[in-house]
Amino acid sequence: MCVLQPSGTLSQSEILRLRTALLHNTAKAALEYLDGEETRAVQPSAAAVAALDAFREPLPEGPMAATEVLEQLHRLGSPATIAKTAGRFFGFVNGGCLPAALAAAWMVSAWDQNAAIFVQSPTAITLEEVALEWVRELLGLPAGTGGAVVTGATMANFAALAAARRAVCLRAGWDVEADGLFGAPEITVVIGAEAHPSVHKALGLLGLGRNRVVRVPVDSQGRMRADSLPHMDQRTILCLQAGNVNSGAFDAAAAIVPEARAKGAWIHVDGAFGLWAAASPQYRHWTKGFEQADSWATDAHKWPNVGYDCGIALVREPEMLRGAMSMTASYLPMGERREPADYNPELSRRARGVELWAALRSLGRAGLAEIVEHTSAHARRFAAGLMAAGYEILNEVTINQVLVSFGSREKTLRAIERIQQDGTCWCGSTVWQGKTAMRISVSSWATTEQDVERSLAAMVRAAREP
Ligand SMILES: *Cc1c(COP(=O)(O)O)cnc(C)c1O
Repeated sequence: MCVLQPSGTLSQSEILRLRTALLHNTAKAALEYLDGEETRAVQPSAAAVAALDAFREPLPEGPMAATEVLEQLHRLGSPATIAKTAGRFFGFVNGGCLPAALAAAWMVSAWDQNAAIFVQSPTAITLEEVALEWVRELLGLPAGTGGAVVTGATMANFAALAAARRAVCLRAGWDVEADGLFGAPEITVVIGAEAHPSVHKALGLLGLGRNRVVRVPVDSQGRMRADSLPHMDQRTILCLQAGNVNSGAFDAAAAIVPEARAKGAWIHVDGAFGLWAAASPQYRHWTKGFEQADSWATDAHKWPNVGYDCGIALVREPEMLRGAMSMTASYLPMGERREPADYNPELSRRARGVELWAALRSLGRAGLAEIVEHTSAHARRFAAGLMAAGYEILNEVTINQVLVSFGSREKTLRAIERIQQDGTCWCGSTVWQGKTAMRISVSSWATTEQDVERSLAAMVRAAREP
């Protein structure tokens, strides 16, 4: 049986010809998809979503030609996607995908490299090392910091906090990877009341408990109150935040970190998007002090606009991450060089470091700074436009996040629903300090001033509808 065409036997040259035709057609379909971005509604129609039911067929007993598989995917799948490429998707904190990153992703798939260890892909591992070092430099982190390229900030928080758990237990003479947590010395986790839920999830996965934490109260922007820090010592893991997922606010690291360091705490930073502000001279001041932490989690699929998925864990003492993640097997080579598998939760893994490299190589320091600055300026324009239309902005718009209320909870939710249905742009809802709000996150390289004006008009139109 041939994997490209179900019937008949094909010669080697016919197989190659079919594969070439398949991939040309796929590139054509992908380009057709991307070129349609100006006219496509950001939220797919209910009919397009309902049509996905055609995928729910019984397990096929026999093969289907690969071209037909792709035809089905494009015909049914493409219309029901969320149109993120046009720069008018402002939901969650979702970046776009830079052309260089998309092209690199195509190459990564064509190469089918396993980025676990060097002998499996010298190219992937080299580019990952280069990219990690560039990220360290862009974020202004100490020389010698090491890390891992993972799927997202959730896994980055998990990996970095595993390193933290190891370090804090080792100080108390306990090898937590070998001996587990039963009977281990007590660890105290200190965390802001506005920490991202993924940090709590990571703590749960690590056996430290989602709720077994000391919560520090926050101010009106969601920043940890520096005057309300609890007792901390060598058995403490302090979790700070650089960029609140709603307000965009940064914990006051410059005030908190020196004190926590002096007390011997391990300081971890969830900087999924906010940390990238360090790339811009105009916004860098928000990240001051975070560089003195012990570990950091960030996302390349947010502000740096690498396609999904790409997160990064960074640890000042990479040995702690290695101690938490490495394993030995008789068939795995053990040498002097850095093997990603020794630092990652995963063994086999997509070569997402290649896409990270491509994005950073195409942007350079200046390009990344420009994304940070443009998206933040777009956020300020949204805030000004909505305020001028009579609506309340609930946060101090310092970077790329805006929280707007259209009045009561009901009015706000109704406006959000209409905005989503209108399709010009897409924003989600949140509850900010007890108040229902619409969240605008401008994170894509592709967002233009026209996109902002078009979207602003659509928002105001939807909110004013009786
Ligand atoms: C997005 C985000 C996360 C989770 O990141 P994923 O990439 O979705 O795993 C964690 N923390 C903050 C502050 C975030 O903005």
